[in-house]
Amino acid sequence: MKKYKELKPVKTIALVAHDHKKEELIDWVNANKETLIKHRLIATGTTGALIESQLNVQVSRVLSGPLGGDQQLGAMIATGVIDLMIFFWDPMESQPHDTDVKALLRLCVVWNIPLACCSATADFIISSPYMNSSYKSAVTDYTDYLKRAIK
Ligand code: PGA
Repeated sequence: MKKYKELKPVKTIALVAHDHKKEELIDWVNANKETLIKHRLIATGTTGALIESQLNVQVSRVLSGPLGGDQQLGAMIATGVIDLMIFFWDPMESQPHDTDVKALLRLCVVWNIPLACCSATADFIISSPYMNSSYKSAVTDYTDYLKRAIK
């Protein structure tokens, strides 16, 4: 039997940007401020602080990404708290927390979370009719995995 998770009309949206991508994310949030303020926003520490100070948009914050913030967001994805992720990661520079970045991207796929890694995808997501309505998201049934034989 297929499993579904219902994303409610008001979404919890995670926002993260690496340092060289922060300006791009701030510009994108600014351009989409009217839509975004209708939802719950959560960000890694520095990204969230910049959005609040530069755009006066309320954002809940976890720790800074490299200090555990990426993993906090990952846990929120695994427990169904986060509905979608806007993550402008830097493709031109390796990060001290590359393993955390990879883990966060992986969990978005494990739990079928809409994920934008560039502004074009983010534009497609934010203009989707699902942004302001319910969406039945198919979630992989991991029952067999959980019941696997361990020798
Ligand atoms: P930061 O973290 O917003 O605290 O800079 C971003 C990241 O995950 O690298």
